[in-house]
Amino acid sequence: MTGAPDIAAETHEAHDVVPGAVAAGLIVLCDHASNRIPDDYGRLGLPPGDLQRHIAWDIGAAGVARRLAAMLGAPAVLSRFSRLLADPNRGLDDPTLIMRISDGAIIPGNARVDAEERQRRIDRFWRPYDDAVSGLIGRFTQAGVSPALISVHSFTPAWRGVRRPWHAGLLYDPRDPRFSRAVKQALERDPALVVGDNQPYSGGLSGDMMDRQGFKRGLDHALVEVRQDLIDSEAGQQEWAARIAEAVRHAMATARRQLPRAAQ
Ligand SMILES: [Zn+2]
Repeated sequence: MTGAPDIAAETHEAHDVVPGAVAAGLIVLCDHASNRIPDDYGRLGLPPGDLQRHIAWDIGAAGVARRLAAMLGAPAVLSRFSRLLADPNRGLDDPTLIMRISDGAIIPGNARVDAEERQRRIDRFWRPYDDAVSGLIGRFTQAGVSPALISVHSFTPAWRGVRRPWHAGLLYDPRDPRFSRAVKQALERDPALVVGDNQPYSGGLSGDMMDRQGFKRGLDHALVEVRQDLIDSEAGQQEWAARIAEAVRHAMATARRQLPRAAQ
């Protein structure tokens, strides 16, 4: 794979591309990296504090994703807009693409989104982010490399007053569990960790990021969720990036598909 093109840094209103090498064989994704809402959206009518909450983004996930990419020498794509504008981890036909209510909070700026405004948000945020992911995958396959996708998310320590017991979780489509299970098994080599199996929620939502960019393309993929209180500091992000990097290395060594010969 000598001479494979490296991926350059790029910043767009909808996303950041973190540079990395095609030879790394994988791409890190962070769909909910940012709580940014451009000024013309006036915080969607929410009080400032609400934008710091999980409803707007995945707390800690961007720090883990950037460190993970650096440790593995892989490029990454991180969103630069709040999921409250349009959720990149939902398909375009999903009714929760633009949430009106999230974790008990009514989103005033989403109460009356007509077809035109919906399309405007797709064109400005959802589509460029998704295109950046597609473009990066295209760069790999052109170089003869079938990339694995690692998607980093985070979840709240409690839900409706009940504490969540997992430190992390792998969410996957039961039709294609292999790579996710390899990551999970590697994380579980630390007996102190409780790693959810399609917990705290189930993966395999039709049209979500791993479905459209991983499963449907036949790429190895895994979505890792980490509990937010473990990654709300730089030290925690570093620790979890190292854990996930080690687990991903293990999965890539043991659970990779054959590279498609036609692309060599
Ligand atoms: Zn998320």
